[in-house]
Amino acid sequence: MDRIKKSLKCPVCYFTFDINTRIPRVLTCGHNLCGSCCSKIYTEGSITCPICKKDNCYDNVSLITQNYIVIEMIQEIKATDEPMFKLKNNPF
Ligand SMILES: [Zn+2]
Ligand SMILES: [Zn+2]
Repeated sequence: MDRIKKSLKCPVCYFTFDINTRIPRVLTCGHNLCGSCCSKIYTEGSITCPICKKDNCYDNVSLITQNYIVIEMIQEIKATDEPMFKLKNNPF
C-alpha cells in the first residue's frame, strides 16, 4: 500500500493528489500532474510538460483530462486509512 501511495504524488510539487485542488490530471503526453501545478504551468493555451517538455494545448485548465483511476485509488485509500472518521459518523 505504501508503494501505491508514493505513486499517487504529483511529480512536480510532491504533494499527494486529492479530489479538491490537487486533482490528478493527465496531459496529452501521458504524464500526470496535479490540478494546482497545471494552473501554475498553464500559459496562453498550452502547458509545457515539466517531465518531457512536450507542449500540450488546452483552451482551459479544466479541460485537461482527469485521471479517474488515480481519483478512485485516492478514495479507496481514504476509506481504509480513516477508520476513526468512519467511527465518528457511526450513530452507535
Ligand atoms: Zn503538483
Ligand atoms: Zn510529459
